[in-house]
Amino acid sequence: MIFIKSASEINKIRASCLIVGELLDALEERIVAGASTLDLDAFAWEFIVSRGGQPAFKGYTIPGLGPFPGTLCTSLNSGIVHGIPAADAILQEGDIIGIDVGVHKDGFYGDAARTYAVGKVSPEAEKLMQVTRQALELGIAAARAGNRVSDISHAVGSYVGEMGYFVADDLTGHGIGRNLHEEPQIPNSGAAGRGPRLKPGMTLAIEPMVNIGTNRVKEKGWEFFAADDSLSAHYEHTILVTESQPEILTLVEGAKI
Ligand code: MG
Repeated sequence: MIFIKSASEINKIRASCLIVGELLDALEERIVAGASTLDLDAFAWEFIVSRGGQPAFKGYTIPGLGPFPGTLCTSLNSGIVHGIPAADAILQEGDIIGIDVGVHKDGFYGDAARTYAVGKVSPEAEKLMQVTRQALELGIAAARAGNRVSDISHAVGSYVGEMGYFVADDLTGHGIGRNLHEEPQIPNSGAAGRGPRLKPGMTLAIEPMVNIGTNRVKEKGWEFFAADDSLSAHYEHTILVTESQPEILTLVEGAKI
């Protein structure tokens, strides 16, 4: 079932989401050539814990895989999601890196992701990031009370397709709250007008994952890559469905989506 959150639950989700948003902003100046993804991970752990939160992904398990070791998911270039931070993963000028982070505090979760450029990146990488970010904005705009879940999917997927890119197969957004992942699943493509109706008080993580060359993915343990090794980008926000416009809970006031 899809949980409708009370005002006090929403405030707790908001607090977790604020830590996520501030952390993603604080990482901007740390995404530089020469930094390792493990350095970024250590910074993120300290940032979250010092604000009274717990990293939500660290220790997360799914059947067949050991506990996820990172505070962050760090997915470089053709990495789509769930990249594992490592000392020997050193950022190079021209890379792009998707960073996904979840925070748990007072029993509730927040979750967001952003793709960063390391120094100056190619026009292709720039365009991919722009399109994926725009796909997220369109998905959020569709998350209005009275719409259905697949209206979000359709808004994301149709735009990505029009721009000549591909949404990654089988990876979806999700409800979030007392659980990191709860109903509904939110695919990034499909026909509009299907699935449960959105209601005020639902909290959703909307997260387009977009590849340049193919929708197919390949998996290596936790990590997902574009099957053709083309570049991939990922943006995500946790939002609250309201009576009017959705509220973006992981967006720090004044920051850009
Ligand atoms: Mg998520």
